[in-house]
Amino acid sequence: VAKGAGKNQWRRYQRHLHDEMVERLELRSALDHAVNEGHFLLHYQPIVDLASGVAVGFEALVRWSHPQRGVITPDQFIEVAEESGLVVPMGRWVLEEALRTVSEWRRVLPPGQAPYVTVNVSVRQFREAGFVDQVRTALHHTGVPPQSLMLEITETLLMKDDEQRVWSDLSTLREMGIRIAIDDFGTGYSSLGYLRQRPIDVVKIDKTFIDDMVTSPQPLALVSGIVSLARNLQLTVVAEGIEDVAHRDLLVQLGCPLGQGFLFSSPLGPTEVLAWMTGTTVAA
Ligand code: C2E
Ligand code: MG
Ligand code: MG
Ligand code: MG
Repeated sequence: VAKGAGKNQWRRYQRHLHDEMVERLELRSALDHAVNEGHFLLHYQPIVDLASGVAVGFEALVRWSHPQRGVITPDQFIEVAEESGLVVPMGRWVLEEALRTVSEWRRVLPPGQAPYVTVNVSVRQFREAGFVDQVRTALHHTGVPPQSLMLEITETLLMKDDEQRVWSDLSTLREMGIRIAIDDFGTGYSSLGYLRQRPIDVVKIDKTFIDDMVTSPQPLALVSGIVSLARNLQLTVVAEGIEDVAHRDLLVQLGCPLGQGFLFSSPLGPTEVLAWMTGTTVAA
């Protein structure tokens, strides 16, 4: 009996593996189709000055606009996009679309009030030869000044990569006037001391630390340490995933200048951004 049960279990396991593989392949081919057809859109989440509540920038977050399944968030496809390399053409579209949107904000909003946009870039895109030129061309075509663009790269991905070229490309982008942010900071193993010698302007503290800091001393010490060290190193800090007032108040107390999260707004469509901006401008 035991032997038979083991056999059944093994078969079930194999069927499970097979189903998973088929699912991944299907996802990959659907994603390939989406890239060719341009079935993506961007939502934008405000990055606010914590003390005043005014939005200084917006993070562009990609969504897959699936003809049957509706709007799909990146947690469901970014991994497959990375593995398959489809993140490269998708990312190119994201960059261009984000810059087109900023140029529209700049056209519509009063001078000096247009927020910057920050775009997530996978290391795979950075490794692609010609990424720097791609950014330069996209800025040129849209007429957006480099100061209105920030690029986010995750800490974990960056630490895996000790290729000198990635760092030298980041330096080139920074010399052009584009700001570089480290995303999900705290989830990898790098120290701020290490970042000091790197071409970086902004550190984004991962949501997990923000969630826990109100109730636990360890994440609180970590957030407080990052904020004060960053200030000494002349880096800007953005706290991610702020969901309630207690978190915001504590961050203000710690001297954290910027944050984003559902407390302020979830990611918005491009026209909602303009409404949000003009709304805050009027209120302020
Ligand atoms: P991320 O860059 O760390 O982006 C923040 C994520 O947290 C977003 O999820 C955002 O909607 C969510 N979020 C913001 N505030 C809150 C909050 O208060 N509570 C909670 N629970 N969540 C909050 P999203 O849009 O699903 O994006 C997930 C990840 O996908 C991003 O994490 C980023 O790593 C990746 N991603 C998004 N767009 C792109 C893209 O265009 N290119 C690449 N390569 N990756 C992207
Ligand atoms: Mg990000
Ligand atoms: Mg992040
Ligand atoms: Mg995060």
